[in-house]
Amino acid sequence: MHEYVEEAIHSGLGEIGLTDHLFLYWLPRAERSLKWAIPESEYDNHYAEMLALRERYRGSINVRIGVEADFVAGHEAELHEVLGRYDFDFVLGSVHFMDGWLIDDPDLAHRYHEERVAEIYRRYFANVRAAIATGAFDILAHFDLPKKFGFLPEEDVSGIIASTLDAAAAAGVAIELSTAGVRKPVAEIYPSPAILRAMRERDIPIVLSSDAHAPSEVGFGYDASIAAARAAGYESLVTFAARERTTARIG
Ligand code: ZN
Ligand code: FE
Repeated sequence: MHEYVEEAIHSGLGEIGLTDHLFLYWLPRAERSLKWAIPESEYDNHYAEMLALRERYRGSINVRIGVEADFVAGHEAELHEVLGRYDFDFVLGSVHFMDGWLIDDPDLAHRYHEERVAEIYRRYFANVRAAIATGAFDILAHFDLPKKFGFLPEEDVSGIIASTLDAAAAAGVAIELSTAGVRKPVAEIYPSPAILRAMRERDIPIVLSSDAHAPSEVGFGYDASIAAARAAGYESLVTFAARERTTARIG
């Protein structure tokens, strides 16, 4: 993690949020570790390392202690219990699993051919609304994730998205502008320009994210994110510390 922090300092960033993926808390203990998630047995050490980095770099850069945690329908109580074990600066919420299907796994992308894509979107955003309703999340990750492989809904789903944004606005949940999508087949920031405009209409706060999976990806594409935010009418973004939001003007 210190390499990501060093890279952020060299890139001139004033703040970096560490958001490794929480273990798969809703599965039986033996199945809770996937290669992209921190195993449960290592999570206490991981958390302690984040605390140490925050202290070590104080004065050079704001290191914020975050986590990307899944929403999985029916496991809200475990989610609250696990998150309650730690003092995070912010919690990033995501929906990757629907009925056991990891919807952004390239090896399972064939599923987008086996069902109407609009139906996948409908179910996905119903899960996002349920995630918002838990109150566990400060920020929603990769808001329009089902577009990842470039499969688009057969019909207009903007009504489903609008009602999800209404829920986010009412709950005061922020949404990340993630450049991870630029590195994926869809080659577009999460969320799309149209969704970003709909977010702006509702005054939904935005945060910048590169979802860096290597130090070299820290801050990837932020110029494009800022341009997209401005084009949608945004003049500010937010940051988080101790679960409290601070607003900063863009530029
Ligand atoms: Zn994610
Ligand atoms: Fe990620």
